[in-house]
Amino acid sequence: MPERSVRIAIIGAGPSAFYAAAALIAQDDVAVRVDLFDRLPAPYGLVRYGVAPDHQRIKSVAALYEKTASDPRVRFFGCVEFGKDVTIDSLRPLYDMVVFATGAQSDRSLGIPGEDLSGSMSATEFVAWYNGHPDYKDLNPDLSVEGVAVIGVGNVAMDVARILAKTPDELKETDIADHALEALKHSKVRNIYVLGRRGPAQAKFTNPEIKEFGKLNTADPVVLEGELELDPHSAVTVEQNRMARQNVEILREYAARGHGTKTRKVHFRFLVSPTEILGDGKVSGIKIERNKLVSTDDGYLNANGTGEFEELNVGMVLRSVGYKGLQVPGMPYDARKGTIPNDHGRILNPTTGNPIPGAYVVGWAKRGPTGVIGTNKKDAEETVALLLEDIPHIRRAGVDAKVEQKLEELLEGAGCKYVSFDEWQSFNALEIERGKSQNRPRVKFIDIEEMRAAQSEREA
Ligand SMILES: Cc1cc2nc3c(=O)[nH]c(=O)nc-3n(C[C@H](O)[C@H](O)[C@H](O)COP(=O)(O)OP(=O)(O)OC[C@H]3O[C@@H](n4cnc5c(N)ncnc54)[C@H](O)[C@@H]3O)c2cc1C
Repeated sequence: MPERSVRIAIIGAGPSAFYAAAALIAQDDVAVRVDLFDRLPAPYGLVRYGVAPDHQRIKSVAALYEKTASDPRVRFFGCVEFGKDVTIDSLRPLYDMVVFATGAQSDRSLGIPGEDLSGSMSATEFVAWYNGHPDYKDLNPDLSVEGVAVIGVGNVAMDVARILAKTPDELKETDIADHALEALKHSKVRNIYVLGRRGPAQAKFTNPEIKEFGKLNTADPVVLEGELELDPHSAVTVEQNRMARQNVEILREYAARGHGTKTRKVHFRFLVSPTEILGDGKVSGIKIERNKLVSTDDGYLNANGTGEFEELNVGMVLRSVGYKGLQVPGMPYDARKGTIPNDHGRILNPTTGNPIPGAYVVGWAKRGPTGVIGTNKKDAEETVALLLEDIPHIRRAGVDAKVEQKLEELLEGAGCKYVSFDEWQSFNALEIERGKSQNRPRVKFIDIEEMRAAQSEREA
C-alpha cells in the first residue's frame, strides 16, 4: 500500500461527484485525499440548478453532500473550470487519479424547421434560468405570450409546465431565482400545451408529477378523452405497469373534469409530433401531426405520422426531449450518447478500447441523462470500486511535499480566484438569511460577483 494518501481529483460537484467522494472516504483500505472542482461557485450541480424550486424536499439531499464536503479529506474548489483553468495535463502531476462527474450540460434538438426562431429554446435553458444558473441569468424568456408548447412528457417537461402554470403566490415561498419570480408575476401565459409523441401509457412522467396539475390554484389540466384510447399494446402496458396504469387513471379523471373554470389551462396532448415551429423571426405557432402507434417485430411501438395536421397558437416552444453531455476538453467522447466512453466507469481509449490508466467517470457523464438523484449513488460506487481495485497498478503522480503550493500556483496562474467550501458555506448562510424574512428557504445569489459583494458588505 502507498505511503502517502492517494490523491484523487473529481471534476464536477453534482450528486455523482459527492457520491463518489463519499464512497472514497467510506473505505478504510486506502488513505485518500479528494478534491472536487466545479466551474460554478456553488456545489451540488442539478440539485441546485435543475430540481424544481417548488420541490424543496428533494433538494434537502444537499445536507448529505455537505457532510461529505466537511470531511477533512475532502475539499471543494468552486469557479474552477476543467478545460480552461485546469486540464488533464496540469492535473496529472498533482493527482494520481481523476474522476469525471461533469453531467450532461446540453440538450437534444428536435431537428424540425423553425427551431432557431426567437422564443424556441430548450427546457434546459428555461430550467437553468428559473433556478438562477449564472450562465442563463440574461435569458429573459418572453412571457408576454399567451401560449407555450412544451415538447416531451418526462418529469422535466412537467417541471417547466408547472412553473409556467403556477401563480407567483404559489412560488413565492420557494428558492426560485428572483428575476424569474419577477418575470412570472407579469406572465400573460394562459395556455400551456404539453405534447407527447406517443400515447398516455408511454408517458415518462411519474404519478406525483402529473397529480400536481390537479391541484393548482389557477390552472386546470385539460385532457382530450379521445387521446386516452389505448391500442392493444398500450392496454397490456397499462395492465402490467403500475406507474403507467396510475398515470392513465389520473389523466382519465382530468378528462372527465372537462375544460374547467380556471384562467390557465395545461393541455396534455398525446400521439402528436411537432413538425414545424412557425414564425417570422419569432415563434408564432407550432404545427403538429397526429400519430398512430405501430408495433414493430421487436415489440417496440413506433409513433408514425398520419398526415393529419393541426396548428397551435403559441409564442414560445420549450423542447424537453433529453439532456445531452458535451465533450469534456481533452477527453474521449461518444457523440451519439453524449457520454465519456467507459467500461463500468473506467474511461476507455477510443482507439485501443483499453482503459486509460487513472481516469474514471460517474453519473450522467457516464451513463447518460437517466435516473433519479439516488441512481447516481450506486453508479458512483461501481466506479469507485474499480478505481480502488486499480490503485496498486497505476503509476503514481510524482507528488512532492510542495503539492499544495503547486495547486495554488496552478489556480493562481489561471487567474482563478476559487471558492473554498468554507467560503461557499458563508454564501449559503447569507442566502438562507436573506430568505428568512420572506419565508423562503433561501434567496439565491446568481453569480460569484454578487456573492462576494454581499459577503464584503456583511463584513464591513
Ligand atoms: C430539470 C431537472 C430536474 C430534475 N429533478 C429531479 C428530481 O426532482 N428528483 C431527482 O431524483 N432527480 C432529478 N433530476 C435528475 C438529477 O438532477 C440527476 O440525476 C443528477 O443531477 C445527475 O448528477 P451528475 O452529478 O451526473 O450531474 P450534474 O448534477 O449535472 O452535475 C455536474 C456538475 O459538473 C459541473 N461541470 C460540468 N462541466 C464542468 C467542467 N468542464 N469543469 C468543472 N465543472 C464542470 C457542473 O457545473 C455541475 O455542477 C433532475 C434533472 C433535471 C435536468
